[in-house]
Amino acid sequence: MKFILLLILFSSQLMAYTFNNNFGASFKDNDVKVMIAGNSACDPDNVGLTFGELQDLIDPAIDKFWNRVPTSALRLSFGGFTNDITGIGSRRLCAPTDEACISSAPGATIEPVREIVIACNDLPINFGSLNVLAVTIPNQFSGKDIVGSVILINNQAGSAFKNLSKTDQIGVIAHEIGHAIGLGHTDDKAAMMYYRTVDLRRALGEDDMRGVSYLYPMKLDGFGLLGGCATIEENKKQPPSGGSFLTMLAGLFLMVFVWELKRLLKRSQARPTL
Ligand SMILES: [Zn+2]
Repeated sequence: MKFILLLILFSSQLMAYTFNNNFGASFKDNDVKVMIAGNSACDPDNVGLTFGELQDLIDPAIDKFWNRVPTSALRLSFGGFTNDITGIGSRRLCAPTDEACISSAPGATIEPVREIVIACNDLPINFGSLNVLAVTIPNQFSGKDIVGSVILINNQAGSAFKNLSKTDQIGVIAHEIGHAIGLGHTDDKAAMMYYRTVDLRRALGEDDMRGVSYLYPMKLDGFGLLGGCATIEENKKQPPSGGSFLTMLAGLFLMVFVWELKRLLKRSQARPTL
């Protein structure tokens, strides 16, 4: 019975993670590059990061966090510098579906990118407040797949980013990469994708691992675990209901229930009749 209770507890926490859009988009390819926009240097007075220092934040955010999930097929890598994104340091960042955002900055939005591009940006409206450390928006899609995401570090004078410890800055970059690959916020305080406390972002939480594994599942073909039905990969683009995992759990639950019932029946049969 304890096992059943555990299962119920586990499944009730399943869907704390969210997605950064309403159709659970992710990159189609599991190998995604993270690049630095070489034409948008961070202001040494405001953010205080050289390109080399920025790379030193990106590398651990990739290697110590998102690439360490055994059930996720996502493999991020540092892809060097790109100088091709016009205006990435000063223009408005809009999602391609956000008409209000696009029309508010006619001809002055950041162009659609490929892969993940990180830049410093100093346009106030992108951040809303000096306390917003960074923002991330996938700004190019192909159907339900993300083609490219932009991460902007708040490069305004007085930006709070500069005063963070290096560990916290790594946490911020890892959190933003989480948005770039398709995750939204969670209310689980132990998660990297928790929206408030930066100084708790020291490792991925179980919730982050479940989220990234849902978006970038390891293929289980050939192991016979799913009885020859659809692979998890094929279920990837369904609405974020957590359905396939919940179905598996329900199946497991049923098996335990039947087993438990059989055991009880056996016991009652074994009892001597009076
Ligand atoms: Zn966030």
